[in-house]
Amino acid sequence: MALLVLNVKEKPEKRVLCEICSTEMTERHCRLVCLNCGFKWDCSDR
Ligand SMILES: [Zn+2]
Repeated sequence: MALLVLNVKEKPEKRVLCEICSTEMTERHCRLVCLNCGFKWDCSDR
C-alpha cells in the first residue's frame, strides 16, 4: 500500500482530454495538441 502511494506521488504528470473527441492530448512546448482531431489548446488560454 505504501508503495502504491509513493508511485502516484512521483508522477505529477497532468493528463488532459480533448474537449471534442475525448482523446488524451499531447503536450508540446506550451500547447496541448489532440493527435486524433487536431484540436489545439494554447496554455495561455487558461
Ligand atoms: Zn480531439
